[in-house]
Amino acid sequence: MLRSALLAASRSPQVRTVVEKFPPTHAIVERFVAGEQLDDAVTACDDLVATGRKVTLDHLGEDTKDAEQAAGTAQAYEHLLTALKETGLAAGAEVSVKLSAVGQFLPLDGEKIALENARRICEAAADAGTTVTLDMEDHTTTDSTLSIARELRADFPWLGVVLQAYLRRTEADCAEFAAAGSRVRLCKGAYKEPESVAFQGKRDVDLAYVRALKVLMAGEGYPMVASHDPNMIKIAGQLAEWNGRSRDSFEYQMLYGIRPEEQLRLAQAGNTMRVYLPYGAEWYGYFMRRLAERPANLTFFLRAMATRG
Ligand SMILES: Cc1cc2nc3c(=O)[nH]c(=O)nc-3n(C[C@H](O)[C@H](O)[C@H](O)COP(=O)(O)OP(=O)(O)OC[C@H]3O[C@@H](n4cnc5c(N)ncnc54)[C@H](O)[C@@H]3O)c2cc1C
Repeated sequence: MLRSALLAASRSPQVRTVVEKFPPTHAIVERFVAGEQLDDAVTACDDLVATGRKVTLDHLGEDTKDAEQAAGTAQAYEHLLTALKETGLAAGAEVSVKLSAVGQFLPLDGEKIALENARRICEAAADAGTTVTLDMEDHTTTDSTLSIARELRADFPWLGVVLQAYLRRTEADCAEFAAAGSRVRLCKGAYKEPESVAFQGKRDVDLAYVRALKVLMAGEGYPMVASHDPNMIKIAGQLAEWNGRSRDSFEYQMLYGIRPEEQLRLAQAGNTMRVYLPYGAEWYGYFMRRLAERPANLTFFLRAMATRG
């Protein structure tokens, strides 16, 4: 119930205005978001890389409403990738892109615009010597996102895709994307989805995650295990071992600000540990999804609201 309400609020302009104007929000947002400016992102990235972690940077934004804004987002990624190249961080840092931020939802030729903008970002990443992963949004975008990914992979075979374990279709998608060289991030899924397309309870989602992970670990691709769940992390390690995988043939991924000690433990044990690092002014949707995932974060937020009256 609470999760559903928060996920619905993540798409409400009215709630957005209230939350964004509330001063304590910003202190809590800082835990999950590097800052609003490019320099903030580069500094946070540098700090993470210095502690043996890798990074994937997300220029925050989603549901872009016009072509100009979509092109502006692509340009922001180009500037980011130039900065990563110039600071020598590109070896340890890639970027994550939401296709809705580069035009996917625009009427008429949204998919074409998103493809062109994503291509610009991939070219800038290739020039910087790093990679791109396409984030996955709600289930209405899955076919479109995977079809854009297939098209881009013809020129950029290192392009990463995200599959969400809660979707009933994902085990089959894993079979397709477990091919040689294919970078696949497996996450549980962060959106409010109907029962017809997605498993609902934690136990069912966890079981689906393990089934999907089995397919990816047994395949020839490069699985990216995106979860903070201690059980999933343990099972991923076991599956990698059973499939004779070396430590450089898969990686763990976690979000910035969540379980940082575990991130360091995994990195220090010789694993590749990548942190998803968001930055930018458009933090609202991302922040609300993080609150929806963990009641403790919400309690902290509400307590701050009550204290401020
Ligand atoms: C690198 C990365 C990229 C992602 N990309 C996408 C994407 O493209 N599309 C998409 O739909 N989703 C994405 N997600 C989000 C993902 O789908 C889940 O919503 C999120 O990771 C929570 O699921 P979990 O696997 O951590 O397990 P959960 O079952 O939610 O949590 C397990 C445990 O992890 C800890 N934990 C989890 N969340 C939090 C939190 N917010 N604060 C503090 N502790 C927490 C707690 O200890 C909790 O008990 C991504 C997640 C990661 C890590």
